[in-house]
Amino acid sequence: MSAERLARLRGLLAGGQACGGRTLEALLITRPENRFYLTGFTGSSGYVFVTAGTALLLTDFRYVEQAAEQAPGFEIVRHGSPWYATLGERAAASGIRELGFEKDHLNVSDFEKVSGAVGGVSLVGVNGVIEELRVLKDPGEVQAVRAAAACSDRAFAQLLESGVLRPGVQERVVAAELEHYMRLAGATKPAFDTIVASGPRSSLPHGRASERILQAGDFVTLDFGAVVDGYCSDITRTVVLGKAGDEQRKLYELVLRAQLAGVEAVRAGKTGREVDAVSRGIIAEAGHADHFGHGLGHGVGIAVHEAPRLSPVGDAVLGQGMITSVEPGVYVPGWGGVRIEDLVYVAAGGSENLTASPKDLLELS
Ligand code: ZN
Ligand code: ZN
Repeated sequence: MSAERLARLRGLLAGGQACGGRTLEALLITRPENRFYLTGFTGSSGYVFVTAGTALLLTDFRYVEQAAEQAPGFEIVRHGSPWYATLGERAAASGIRELGFEKDHLNVSDFEKVSGAVGGVSLVGVNGVIEELRVLKDPGEVQAVRAAAACSDRAFAQLLESGVLRPGVQERVVAAELEHYMRLAGATKPAFDTIVASGPRSSLPHGRASERILQAGDFVTLDFGAVVDGYCSDITRTVVLGKAGDEQRKLYELVLRAQLAGVEAVRAGKTGREVDAVSRGIIAEAGHADHFGHGLGHGVGIAVHEAPRLSPVGDAVLGQGMITSVEPGVYVPGWGGVRIEDLVYVAAGGSENLTASPKDLLELS
């Protein structure tokens, strides 16, 4: 697997696609997600250095053995302290004159250190090179996201069974239970801080679980995800505690209609903007245009937010192998909100919903 990814990266470097049309002799990779994608190494510290003929994974004493196991296509280099001195030596030995670096993932201080360590080698900032490769998932990656989605589905079902989602319970307790069930279902960790936003807080699109105590009649928005085999899931469900009022039911049905239409619209060949417009149009028609202020969806993979974007500025064309969330929401300040989110795989000639949790309005009593 890493051999194929490495070959694709080298193709981008040699073909000029990595750097606005000019070829690049070498690339230093510092973003952890990109390091994992390219090498399979799951340790918390390491630097990847790639030229046409060299593929190095620099790591420290703690990880040398693990790196050798997980990254067979790479020469494992145990770096000294500081790491960039070792990088400087290897860069000099490789005879390169320029070295690309990930300008969104090397802070100013490290840039200055690397710059000093590589001497006469000129540093060239690049952006999104490996992220571009990560957009299209191979079957193994789809399988991992599928497993992560199944894990969060299972946790949601268990949360409902547990009866914890009821008046009198704190939001943070609900979050803890969800995370507990995800772990038991096989997650290595939550994909992000679990969102539990109840009552008036449900109008906060990213309301992290707070001390608020759930009340009868609340909307409760739960947005959570699991990491399985290094890949994330991302799901949102909104439930009502007790019988839904007319306004609640109306709003829920609107968001559900927008969500189903958005899922249906996901197809290879469409732009993110076109898919976004389908759900956004439905919400706008109901008079809630101003209450849907975020994009319809985002890619999900090693990172929980990655390309492509489904939004009014989503220029990229969807292609087979992408995985995107579809998550319209309507948020009425001071009153409450609803969001419903699934993960959708862009397949050949259609799409597949990877999220199985039911979406009918749940009125929990
Ligand atoms: Zn989410
Ligand atoms: Zn999301």
